[in-house]
Amino acid sequence: MGSKTRKIQVRDLTIGGGAPIAVQSMCATHTQDIDATLKQIADLEAKGADLIRIAIDNAKDVEALKQIRKATKARLVVDLQENFPLAESVAPYVDKIRYNPGHLHHLDKSKSIQEKVAWIVSIAKTHGIALRIGVNCGSVAPEFLERYAGNHVKAIVESAAWHCELLDQMHFTNYVVSLKDSDPQKVVICNKEFSIRRPDVPIHLGVTEAGLLPDGVIKTRIAFEQLIPAGIGDTIRVSLTLPNSEKHQEITWGHKIIDDIKEGRFVSVPDFGKGLNIISCPSCSRVENGDFVKLAMEVKEMTAYAKDNKLTIAVMGCRVNGPGETDDADLGLWCGPNTVTVKRKSETLGSFRYNEVLPILKKELDQLVLAR
Ligand code: SF4
Repeated sequence: MGSKTRKIQVRDLTIGGGAPIAVQSMCATHTQDIDATLKQIADLEAKGADLIRIAIDNAKDVEALKQIRKATKARLVVDLQENFPLAESVAPYVDKIRYNPGHLHHLDKSKSIQEKVAWIVSIAKTHGIALRIGVNCGSVAPEFLERYAGNHVKAIVESAAWHCELLDQMHFTNYVVSLKDSDPQKVVICNKEFSIRRPDVPIHLGVTEAGLLPDGVIKTRIAFEQLIPAGIGDTIRVSLTLPNSEKHQEITWGHKIIDDIKEGRFVSVPDFGKGLNIISCPSCSRVENGDFVKLAMEVKEMTAYAKDNKLTIAVMGCRVNGPGETDDADLGLWCGPNTVTVKRKSETLGSFRYNEVLPILKKELDQLVLAR
C-alpha cells in the first residue's frame, strides 16, 4: 500500500502522497432537516469519518448548510450535481466541493464547460477549499460519450483527464478525482487506466450504487482489494443502501476493509456477479420518498427466485440521477415522490404507486427469465 500521488489539503486533513486513506460518507437525511442531518454527521464522526458529504440543490439547502456549519466542526464536502451555480454560495461553509463533469452542460448553456470550470476553480481558490472531479458511469459528459462511442471506460477516463488538465492550466492542484461505476471490475479498469495516465492525482475510490448488505460490501471489496494494494486510492467511500439509523456502517465498513487489506485478509468470492445483480444507490438528501430503502429491500427479497440468472436490476432513489443510472440495467426502478418509474434498459415502461410496483417488476422479470 502507499500512494505516490501528490498531497492535497482538505482543511487540516491531508489526502494523497502516502497519507492514511481518508474514509468518507454522505448524509442521507434531508439537508433542510438540520437536526437529523447534524445527528447523522455526529454518528458518522463517532465511527471515524474523515469527511462528510452533503447534497445541496437549492437556496433553502444553502441556508440549512449555514446552520449545520455553525453547529459542527466536521469536514464538510458539498455535492453539486446539476446545481453547480450554487458553488459560490456554499463555498464559505465547506472544505471541499464535488462537481460532476457530466452535469455541467445542463445549466447556463451560453457558457462553455471551460468557463464554468474556471468559475468553480476561482471560487475554490478564493475560499482555500479543495475540489473533487467526480465522474460517474451513468452521467458521463455527452461530448466524451460521442468521441469515444462504444468505449465507455475510455470516455470516463478521458473526461477525468481532460478536467485535470483544465485545472492544471488554471494552476489549481488541490483536487482529487473519482471514477465510479456500479460494476467493481469496471471501477478497477477505469482507476488503473487513470492512475497510469495521471499518477500524480489523488484518487477517491468507490463502487457506486453497490447496494444492500452484504452484496454492497462484497462488490466494494472486489474493487478495493485489487486497487489499494497497487497503491491506487487515497480516500474511499463504501456506498451502501442502509436506513438512516444505520448509515454509520459505511464508515465502519470503510475502516474494516482498509484494515483487512493492510493485514492481507482478502475476501475471495469467485462466483460473485455470475447471477442476479441488484444495484441500488446509497440514498442522499435527494430521496423524495423514505420508502426507497424499504423498496430496495423488498426487491431483493422478491427477486430471490431468479438469483441464478445473469441479470441486473437497478433501484435508484431519485429523479436527479435515477433516470440515467438505470439505463444499463436489464430492469430499472427510480423513485419519485409518489410513484416509481419502471424501465427495461433505457425504455420507460411507466410509473406506478409504491404499493403497485413489485408485481409489475415481477412480471417483467418473469419474461426475462423465461426468455433465457
Ligand atoms: S440516485 Fe439520487 S438519491 Fe440516490 S444517491 Fe444518487 S442522487 Fe442521491
